[in-house]
Amino acid sequence: MSFDVERIRRDFPILATKMRERPLAYLDTAASAQKPKAVIDAISDFYSSHYANIHRGVYQLSAEATRRYDAVRKRVAQFIGARDPREIVFVRNATEAINLVARSWGEAQIGKGDEIVVTTMEHHANIVPWQMLAARKEARLRVASIHEDGSLDVAQLESLLGPRTRLLAFTHVSNVLGTINPVAEITAMARARGITTLVDGAQGVPHGPVDVASLGCDFYAFSGHKLFGPSGAGVLWGRHAILDAMPPFLGGGDMIERVSFKGTTYARAPERFEAGTPDIASVIGLGAAIDYLEGIGMANIAAWEHALLVHATEALSKVPGLRIIGTAKEKAAVVAFVLDGVHPHDIGTVLDGEGIAIRAGHHCAQPLMEHLGLPATARASFAFYNTPAEIDRLVAALEKTRDLFA
Ligand code: PLP
Repeated sequence: MSFDVERIRRDFPILATKMRERPLAYLDTAASAQKPKAVIDAISDFYSSHYANIHRGVYQLSAEATRRYDAVRKRVAQFIGARDPREIVFVRNATEAINLVARSWGEAQIGKGDEIVVTTMEHHANIVPWQMLAARKEARLRVASIHEDGSLDVAQLESLLGPRTRLLAFTHVSNVLGTINPVAEITAMARARGITTLVDGAQGVPHGPVDVASLGCDFYAFSGHKLFGPSGAGVLWGRHAILDAMPPFLGGGDMIERVSFKGTTYARAPERFEAGTPDIASVIGLGAAIDYLEGIGMANIAAWEHALLVHATEALSKVPGLRIIGTAKEKAAVVAFVLDGVHPHDIGTVLDGEGIAIRAGHHCAQPLMEHLGLPATARASFAFYNTPAEIDRLVAALEKTRDLFA
């Protein structure tokens, strides 16, 4: 495959830095992605030359900032196949997007005895807001299980969808197992039963083309910082008819139509859900990230990352005592693993000494860890800026770790 990874790496200034006097091998993109210069420059340029608050001033600078901010809404809509920019709500991150749905849609739609279905492989962000909602409403949270290879047990999930199920919330891609869920198949099951669906796209949107129309969900949530954009800007996509019927979440400036002490009326979606001054520069940066990614092509990104996954799986499988956690057929470039006799935190520390950044811990997925019977795992996650040589360094460092602890 012709993919000029060295050229791409030059777009990311941090990848040229050294850690522990070695070239940084950044293998923790699933936690947060590094930023290309195009994003860093777009933010700097916005603050240097275009900054003002939005949706307020009549002066040219504010009108220009507003135009740029709203242009990103259109850009995001295009990027994920949304029909209408009014379906894009800017939030801080995927966590806030999911909480928004739980607090607004959930408060209005979930009642006593209703059921919310999630899966064992969810990140805490797609568990805790639903637990909190279920507790407020005396509703019930039900959990779909996974197979041994880390794929979702779709038949068991389907058996949980009953007359009281109001919401099915599940991840597009698992941040631990790497499993890519068959989203369209699952949302079709829910749609046939009139069940609303929310897809946690935090790990889905950065790693391949996403088209919400063909995914068939009602809500899709993601974070800009995992999409090679800045932290502070995330997205909730929702069908406009659903969003527009939802009650406000936060009250304040910018989300109103008219305020009086006799009563207040609210703006329509998406403004209804964007009270107060947003992280304007981060939204601008997110727009630049999308432009950058589309310049490379999401399909090219997915192909390169898949090649890295294949290489990593092969090479890691040869390390004696290493077990990969999550071997589903449909898998993103995330490899969690354990090494006999070595705690994942010790793996992380030894690798850090080699300039290799990986994640170790429960990955904000404690129920999954409990299901797997593991307190923690190590996890290497790859992006299109990673190379096979970095994976080879990872493998060599793991061999060294094993020898150290033998
Ligand atoms: N969902 C998944 C699958 C994730 O991996 C993460 C972050 O790791 C989140 C949700 C939460 O993302 P954020 O912390 O950006 O809100």
